[in-house]
Amino acid sequence: MYHPLPDPETLYTALRQRDSTFEGIFVVGVKTTGVFCRPTCRARMPKRENVEFFSSAHEALAHGYRPCKICTPLEYKGAPPAWLRPLLDEINESPLVKLNDRHLRERGLDPSRVRYWFKKQHGMTFQGYLRMLRIGQAFGRIKHGEKVVNTAFESGYQSLSGFTDSFRKTADFSPSRSQDKDLIPTTRILTPLGPMLAGATDDGICLLEFVDRRMLETQLDRLGKRLQARVVPGFHQHFDLLHEQLAEYFSGKRKEFDIPLVLPGTPFQKKVWAGLQAIPYGCTRSYKQQADFIGSPNAVRAVARANGDNRIAILIPCHRVIGANGELVGYGGGLRRKQYLLELESSFR
Ligand SMILES: [Zn+2]
Repeated sequence: MYHPLPDPETLYTALRQRDSTFEGIFVVGVKTTGVFCRPTCRARMPKRENVEFFSSAHEALAHGYRPCKICTPLEYKGAPPAWLRPLLDEINESPLVKLNDRHLRERGLDPSRVRYWFKKQHGMTFQGYLRMLRIGQAFGRIKHGEKVVNTAFESGYQSLSGFTDSFRKTADFSPSRSQDKDLIPTTRILTPLGPMLAGATDDGICLLEFVDRRMLETQLDRLGKRLQARVVPGFHQHFDLLHEQLAEYFSGKRKEFDIPLVLPGTPFQKKVWAGLQAIPYGCTRSYKQQADFIGSPNAVRAVARANGDNRIAILIPCHRVIGANGELVGYGGGLRRKQYLLELESSFR
């Protein structure tokens, strides 16, 4: 999809700062090497006079550039490299699998590379990630009536106390309390604008944010408190549908989402978020218009704040609210992304 590029000085600054909010907005071709890179590539910092900017990888290819081997600009950012995919498939199919360094080597993998990838993508060790998955699955079983002791041994633990310790460390409560507690599984979903973090409960999607958005940790904390649940990596059936509908949205084939949403918040926040959902695809409103719409014409600032507190980007289209003078103003995921989403929608409207 074509979208106009910001001016070259802005782009070069973004490149120098390796600003991840420009991911998907541009790629940079390096004239001296014939290679093109993402804005965040660690490989090189070319001089200003040696670069040209393109709005997409395909455009760079059309100009004869080759994709950089280090930042792989033809793939979605955060996409697992080919060598890691069989391992991820294996974990997804059987999260209870035990995999130590020897097992990894038997699969032809270098354990330190595996660790590095998990640390970078998920902010935790590979073993920590596996433990989270195991505990998440154990939690689901106990919640649905399975006995704690059976679940412990089925989850591959040698002792009940070992299981209880591990469970507590991950979930922050003991396994026997699973009936009246909750965990929120989260996963990464790759989009053309960079990876997003999605969270779900059985009732629906409760989180969708760009992983590099400012205040993501605060958002996660608040969500956990609101739902009295801990956020852990894991799987949920809602993710498949979300993944599919986001892909359709980014290719211009979907204008509305029909996935159940979970939106805990104050009555005022809920009103504001419902107001956001009423803005049609491809349209924009001002904060003032939104305040009028929900019947609180004097609460413009409070409306803006509640907009910023939206935890489900894109599906609750806070990107469709702009300043009264037509300026884009704030967006948690960064203004470039807001602009991209608005241009995407106006080109498919
Ligand atoms: Zn590169």
